[in-house]
Amino acid sequence: MWYVCWGTSVTSGNRLTHVWDASAYLIAGDEPTLIDCGSTEGYAALKRDLKSFGYAPKDIKRVIGTHGHWDHLSAMAKLQEESDAQLFIHEADRRQVETGDPALTAAYLYNKPFPPARVDGLLTHGDVLDINGYLFEVYHTPGHSPGSVSLRTEFHGLKLLIAADTIWGGYHPRIRSSLEDWEKSLDRLLELEFDVMTTGHCPPALIFDAKRHVYEARQQLGVYWNPWFKPFHSSFAATILKGLLESVVQAVPFPFRPIARARPARRAHRTSVVCSTAWRPIYQRDNSLGFTEIRLPVRRAFLARGLGSGTAQ
Ligand SMILES: [Zn+2]
Ligand SMILES: [Zn+2]
Repeated sequence: MWYVCWGTSVTSGNRLTHVWDASAYLIAGDEPTLIDCGSTEGYAALKRDLKSFGYAPKDIKRVIGTHGHWDHLSAMAKLQEESDAQLFIHEADRRQVETGDPALTAAYLYNKPFPPARVDGLLTHGDVLDINGYLFEVYHTPGHSPGSVSLRTEFHGLKLLIAADTIWGGYHPRIRSSLEDWEKSLDRLLELEFDVMTTGHCPPALIFDAKRHVYEARQQLGVYWNPWFKPFHSSFAATILKGLLESVVQAVPFPFRPIARARPARRAHRTSVVCSTAWRPIYQRDNSLGFTEIRLPVRRAFLARGLGSGTAQ
């Protein structure tokens, strides 16, 4: 079980539910709320993870959609079958979720349908959502998709930015990506104050030194685009093999375990994974965008930060 921050838990993501899943967060409390809910492929595993936190799908009151893509929201229709969960999303990504448009939902990348889901409310820039006593500010950050939003909240004095695919999401006109909008969105995020960040596809982890990474993403934006990479579904076997290999590495007892370094991300959407020894702060630089990930439960991350070693080198 992983915690991003006290009060917010990661329930879904490529390390937890399914390799194609985006990260989903649970804000526990009287009105259990998810930020994104992952894909149809990961739904069974999402239920398993919710159960580990003491919840069932029927308990979920609402889902805040960061944007209308398959890996973030295609499980919503199923969740709505099993609960009264309401879906909130930005207007600009609304229609694709209601229709399941295979291009606009990016479902074509996965060769799977996007079951249309009911949208119950809209998110607008400047909204402040009170979710179980935590305030989440909504920032409209289009670019990856027209309706992408980022959320900022504060837990025990730590400002957390949930940037979703605004950081590290893929670009393509087919999903209505816009470099011009994306530049403005990153500039908008750079004006914000935040201490730590999570993205839509990182392992369950907090990214410290977050502002620098957003700045580097801003510098990187639009520098290079290679359209010849394989879509997700055609590289699925390779992804599974990679996961198995990492499992084997993790099974080797410390101190004999090597620090296995994943190959650089070949697409913007693929998570670059750091495989570290457990319970030791390992800071490792990703080869594509320079992200440094700290794969630790948050208490250890706080400890490392307190010792002054939590800042990426
Ligand atoms: Zn995504
Ligand atoms: Zn996306």
